[in-house]
Amino acid sequence: MKIMYDTGWAAPPLPAEPQLAGDVHCDVVVIGGGGGGMAAAIRLAESGADVVLVEARTLGAGASGRNAGYITNSIAADPEMLDHLVEPDRLRALYRYAENAVHFAESTIDEHRIECGHVKAGIVMAAVSKGQLRRARRIAKVLQKNGAASEFVDGREAGLPEGFLGGVRERVGGTVNPGEFVVGLRRATIAAGVRVYEHTPARDVTDTGDGVTVDTPGGSVRAKRALLMTNADNGAFAIAPKNLATPTYTCLLETEPIAPERLDQIGWTSRAPMVSLHMILENHRVTPRGTIVFGTRRVEAGRVPLPERTPSPAVADDLVRGFRERFPGLRDVGFRSVWGGWISMSGTWMPAAGEASDNVLYSQACNGHGFAQAQYVGHLLADHVGGAPRHADLDAIWHGRKRFRPSVVNGPTLYAGWLADRALDRLAALTH
Ligand SMILES: Cc1cc2nc3c(=O)[nH]c(=O)nc-3n(C[C@H](O)[C@H](O)[C@H](O)COP(=O)(O)OP(=O)(O)OC[C@H]3O[C@@H](n4cnc5c(N)ncnc54)[C@H](O)[C@@H]3O)c2cc1C
Repeated sequence: MKIMYDTGWAAPPLPAEPQLAGDVHCDVVVIGGGGGGMAAAIRLAESGADVVLVEARTLGAGASGRNAGYITNSIAADPEMLDHLVEPDRLRALYRYAENAVHFAESTIDEHRIECGHVKAGIVMAAVSKGQLRRARRIAKVLQKNGAASEFVDGREAGLPEGFLGGVRERVGGTVNPGEFVVGLRRATIAAGVRVYEHTPARDVTDTGDGVTVDTPGGSVRAKRALLMTNADNGAFAIAPKNLATPTYTCLLETEPIAPERLDQIGWTSRAPMVSLHMILENHRVTPRGTIVFGTRRVEAGRVPLPERTPSPAVADDLVRGFRERFPGLRDVGFRSVWGGWISMSGTWMPAAGEASDNVLYSQACNGHGFAQAQYVGHLLADHVGGAPRHADLDAIWHGRKRFRPSVVNGPTLYAGWLADRALDRLAALTH
């Protein structure tokens, strides 16, 4: 198995757009060209603004092009906990925001004719123990009460693999090849007239009161306003809110191709993409090339500035162990590659957007669930920075100038989460 920096999804785009050389002026500068930054830049350019987008690597090289490709209406935080802690109207607004994000991402694929193996078949939050199954029933009720398009399903009726007992089916969303998706969105961004500078890391962002200056190694961008869309890297900027989120490294592994009849034999007749109901989820999906991509389970906290790292062998081994446990019928299947990427985890496990200063807005902390949400937030922030009142869906995650307490999400607590999940797995195996 190859431990890789690049993903198994698509090759990085060539040739790259130019690096910034000299000083340029524009209406709005977008810092960070993931799904969020690109969606924002496209929206601004389409509304007539002069937009510059600076990206440290190539557009989509961050989490947006490295993820598992689930388009989900889930929020990372536990629905039962949210139901207890969040006021009902706010919770409904949060789930409406997440569902609209799914529709937004789907319409982006259609509008820009992005070929990315899009399958609109929903996702199942699948239970691997009786305890998780009981939780799934409760979660389905909470989600239905709050207007999310979800329902409880039995594992056999839903065509899930043996060992996956049932769960909560999200009736919207599905999967894409995220590598192909970002290649398509990059093309749309350039075609929209956005001035894109790749391999151009922002070193500093300064709000001068009458505008914003972004300093890069080869020159600067002077703009009226800025959007800070660097996701897990946001904390590297002095202007960004402190303590909002912990950068967290998360990994995916891909198997060798598996004959379709073998997936049928293990009961995975629906090929439904799944996430487990562990504290730190496991995800498993079939790709159009007949492999299974799976991951997360054990994640690691990091510190800005974030290194361009590869998965650690211990995490890759743990993922392999997990795969063998979940799919005993595929015990002989080999593994092709493993890669990873940085996500941004907030202390509440809820997404956030707000104002870093008068002229700088930010989006951050989609907590590993931001493939669709980051794009939608980028789009909504673009309208807002352009002068429109905040959309109700932006209000659902809006934090204004809020300050954040140091987060409980850190290396030791993430490790404790992994340990707790493994202890519960063991207990479930003993009581099976
Ligand atoms: C392994 C993995 C699996 C995941 N699976 C899923 C999934 O299946 N479904 C889902 O919904 N979500 C998933 N996520 C999360 C999802 O990918 C992210 O929430 C989402 O892509 C965030 O988009 P973004 O635009 O905010 O950030 P990013 O895509 O991370 O983009 C930020 C960009 O900013 C750039 N940047 C950083 N610093 C600077 C700087 N100083 N100057 C200029 N540019 C800079 C980066 O290079 C990057 O391109 C996963 C993430 C990972 C890593």
